[in-house]
Parts: sequence; structure tokens; C-alpha cells
Amino acid sequence: MATARLPSPLREFIDSEEWTFAKTMPEWPHEYLVRDRVDTKLFESLMRHIREHGIEGHFYNSVLTYFAEDGLLYWTMGDPIEETIIINRCSEEESYENRLKNGTLPDDNHSQKTKITDDELIQEFTRKMRSKDKISIQVMSITWSGPQNPKSHWHTELNLPLETNSETIRMERKKLLSNPKYFATCEECHQRNPIGWMHGEDGICQSCAENHGVVY
Ligand SMILES: [Zn+2]
Repeated sequence: MATARLPSPLREFIDSEEWTFAKTMPEWPHEYLVRDRVDTKLFESLMRHIREHGIEGHFYNSVLTYFAEDGLLYWTMGDPIEETIIINRCSEEESYENRLKNGTLPDDNHSQKTKITDDELIQEFTRKMRSKDKISIQVMSITWSGPQNPKSHWHTELNLPLETNSETIRMERKKLLSNPKYFATCEECHQRNPIGWMHGEDGICQSCAENHGVVY
């Protein structure tokens, strides 16, 4: 697979950091590092290494760049370097392509209803888009055209001047989590969710509603 092994500073970095297991997606065992909790320079050079030396692979319909070393796969969601806040890794056997080949894919209707952290929400449900004259901060909204059929749309919430620094952009993306137009916290499990995963106006999420016998 990948050609260039990690240089030793990065090797030490990944070995010494404590990776967080993603409890949120038990059917896709993986762990991750968060930018704010580690050395930013090393975090960014690990990301560059992944992107320069990784190869493209599928995760369902998405194409991501995966870097393989010592039986582990490393990847990010593909945002620009300065916007990326999470680096993920999993064992090679747990990759989508291996599981597809081995027939061990999870029942994917479940994957959207498990717990998700705020960092993961920011990474997956907000993004920055750069155009000729501005930077747009966008947030994903989810609508349902059928019980098992979520549709996502990117909505521009805010436009910023081109020269806005990346720290401000990260802060603005984080602020979206507190915007009740897009996210809400379930009164029962206290999990923050995109509005599209909440159960109507009840203040509870779809998973909790399911526990009360509502079928999604
Ligand atoms: Zn809940």
C-alpha cells in the first residue's frame, strides 16, 4: 500500500498520544486525535503525511485518502489542513473496503443513531467553503423523504472576508453547535444531535424515541 513510512518524530507522536476510542460508532471501531489536545505542528505534519503518501479508498460513497502503516489505517475527512480537527485510525481489517470484501459490513441504518461527540459534529456537519470574494461557513441540515431516507443539504450560515484566519473559522464552526436552528440536545440522553435526528418537537432524539416504541 503506502510507500513512505512515518518519520520518527511522527512515529513517536502517534505512539505517545492517547487516542480516543470513538464510542459513538461502535459498528465502525476506530479511534481519533483532536487538534486542540495535541501538538498542532505534529498534528498537521501527520495530516500532510497521510495526504501525500496515502491512497484513495472508499467509505460507502465517499472517497477518502488512507495511509497504512503497521496494520493501521490513518485518515481525515478531507477538509483543508488548517480546518481539520480530527485524525482517525482503525485497524486495516476494519476498513470499509475489507469489510465489504469479507461481507462484514454493519447494518448501516444504525450508524447514524449512535452517540457522536461535539468535535465529530463540527467535523461532519459544518464546513468552510472558499469562493473568489468570501469564505462561507456552512452547516448541514438533514431532512427525511422517507423513514430510512435522510437527505442532507449544505446551508450557508455566515460569510466572512477572505482574510479571516483559521482560528476564527474554527470558532465560528464550533459556535454553530449552539444554534438551535441546527442542533439540539436530547432531554433524555443529553446527546447533542443535528436537528434532523431529533424526534419532532418533543426534545428527545430519534434513538430515545425508538426506545419508547416509535419506529424509524
Ligand atoms: Zn436521546
